[in-house]
Amino acid sequence: MVAQILVTLDGTVHDPDVPFLHADDLAALRGDGVFETLLIRSGRTRRVGAHLDRLERSAEMMDLPKPDRDTWQSAIDVAEKQWQETGGDGEAWLRLVYSRGRESAPDGDPTAYVMAGAVADRVNRARADGISVVTLDRGFSTDLAGSARWQLLGAKTLSYATNMAALRHAADEGFDDVIYLSSEGFVLEGPRSTVITVTGKTLATPPAESGILPGTTQRAVFETAEHEGWTTRTATLRRADLIAADSVWLVSSVALAARVTSLNRYVMPVSPNGTDAHEFAELVDRAICVD
Ligand code: PLP
Repeated sequence: MVAQILVTLDGTVHDPDVPFLHADDLAALRGDGVFETLLIRSGRTRRVGAHLDRLERSAEMMDLPKPDRDTWQSAIDVAEKQWQETGGDGEAWLRLVYSRGRESAPDGDPTAYVMAGAVADRVNRARADGISVVTLDRGFSTDLAGSARWQLLGAKTLSYATNMAALRHAADEGFDDVIYLSSEGFVLEGPRSTVITVTGKTLATPPAESGILPGTTQRAVFETAEHEGWTTRTATLRRADLIAADSVWLVSSVALAARVTSLNRYVMPVSPNGTDAHEFAELVDRAICVD
């Protein structure tokens, strides 16, 4: 197996097995930072501009210094090249990590690095076979994002402990993944994905204002779909809307598209008149190849 790649923003390639972070880095102590995860496919990192846009937006919401796009782009190029040179011919994830730096150096530099590594088997299985999903209460109302800026809803922060706990809870109950519901029962997102419903030639997704992360994959898919004559809309969706749709998908940069095959143990029928599952998955493939 190809080892992971680790590159700092000065372009230095580090040994990923050598300890790297300071013990008092605020990423480790507080999850006080932001990140992005991208896909390397056929040797190229996909949708870099959209991910740098979101990194910038998340950093702004966290009052972190504005990331220098050119420097990040150069580090991404080094990591991408390094991935290929070390024999990584398959798909890889590429992660951008940006934290507030060391607790003991409040005026010091932020910590910033890029990593890459092979896409996990779980991802290939989810793409090929779909996923069983449970809905879980997120515990907040859709108006929280507008009324409590400090909750950082919509920023991709390093504080993913509750997302991981939700996934562990789901796994303990025999599910592959999660769709969060707001306290009103509206569909929000997955702990690491955006929800898209497909009904005929119409795609729907919950509005970003409901306190979810604006997904780069969802946006790319909607842009390509509109170009190809589909109808797209943001809509407040309830659990019943998921059941009524022809198909429901969790989309994200690395996993791309995973069809929800069962929801709360209800087997989602493959609609005879609905859009063929391959058709949507192929739409997603086309969308992420457009830069
Ligand atoms: N929502 C959450 C909470 C996520 O963590 C992610 C991706 O990791 C997404 C949505 C999907 O975002 P993207 O399509 O940009 O990968």
